[in-house]
Amino acid sequence: MLWLQKFLLFLLLILMSGILSCAEKSAGEVSLENLPLHHLPDGHFRNTDTLTEPIRDTMEVDSLVPTERTQLRPLPIFRGGEEIWADSSASSVTWIGHSTYCIKLKKLSILANPIFSERASPVQFFFGPKRGSPPGRALDSLPNVDLVLISHDHYDHLDRGSIKDIYKKWPACYFAVPLKVAAILEDWGIPKSQIIELDWWESRIFSWKNLQDKLTLTFVPAHHTSRRGAFKSSRNATLWGGWMLEFEKKKLWFAGDIAMGDGSYYKEIAKKFAPVDVAFLPIGSYKPSRYTRVHVSPRQAAQLHQLVQSKKSFAMHWGTFSMVYERMDDPPKDLARAKKELQIPENDFIIPGLGEIVQIFVYSNLEQKNAP
Ligand SMILES: [Zn+2]
Ligand SMILES: [Zn+2]
Repeated sequence: MLWLQKFLLFLLLILMSGILSCAEKSAGEVSLENLPLHHLPDGHFRNTDTLTEPIRDTMEVDSLVPTERTQLRPLPIFRGGEEIWADSSASSVTWIGHSTYCIKLKKLSILANPIFSERASPVQFFFGPKRGSPPGRALDSLPNVDLVLISHDHYDHLDRGSIKDIYKKWPACYFAVPLKVAAILEDWGIPKSQIIELDWWESRIFSWKNLQDKLTLTFVPAHHTSRRGAFKSSRNATLWGGWMLEFEKKKLWFAGDIAMGDGSYYKEIAKKFAPVDVAFLPIGSYKPSRYTRVHVSPRQAAQLHQLVQSKKSFAMHWGTFSMVYERMDDPPKDLARAKKELQIPENDFIIPGLGEIVQIFVYSNLEQKNAP
């Protein structure tokens, strides 16, 4: 029986070596060679597309751009349409100011880049851009928030006070954030189990107990940067990007804060998702032209609307915080000019009113019957 003992010992050794090598692999170090291109070895991130020259297209020459920051005046506030929010079969979008959108997809309520604070700043009392208009809708008046989307960590897109208030009011709410942003939210008291942190092109499917419909969320690339805090080391320490939402065969692209770069990120998004049903595109903070290294101009936003074959686009990132040097009316005027030049129908790319509840996806009776 000695041969049997030897054979069993041999088998045991083979098994153990297998277990050990598995353990080695799962606990193995990350190989730098295997890092995605937008990850740097020191843990920071970068844009991987080619940076193009600042553009002017529909803009005036830089020498004519005002030398003082945008002078803001309050925008009119829209009211009414609350019955659309109350209708659990209706879908709508509401601009609350800057890049904050309330996206209601039937019973599901999503808040993108919520900022309700007075300033886009780490300190609220004396420093940082102050808002020119109050939020179009008060946080307390919103339908039950199920999900918050964050595009990146800049103060005008990730606001501590707003995140804390949202969690306090809706403690079951989920927060979808770019890589390395979860730690910031955890610091503010959001439970890890309610934060979804994704890299570019990663997806997550959501389903809620009380909702029948599923939402697929994909974090998509964008040409931009990140920085939070005074230290240079915080520059690009967390990832940035946009969110693609897929819900009941509809696709909605929340672009985030973006520059065109060489356009390759958006061509890839278009290749994978066009035509999209709704796009949320930034149109402000682009003058003088050096700012187009981090932001799109209204003309570029209009080009992106066409690239992804958006059926309906909504403007954002304008008229709320004074951050660069354009006049307050420049974004709407330049967008109107670009739409004319690019032959985009008036209602296909709109600047909604502050607080205006705009219904989307109006189903005909037939569609409703055939809907899953
Ligand atoms: Zn930004
Ligand atoms: Zn911004």
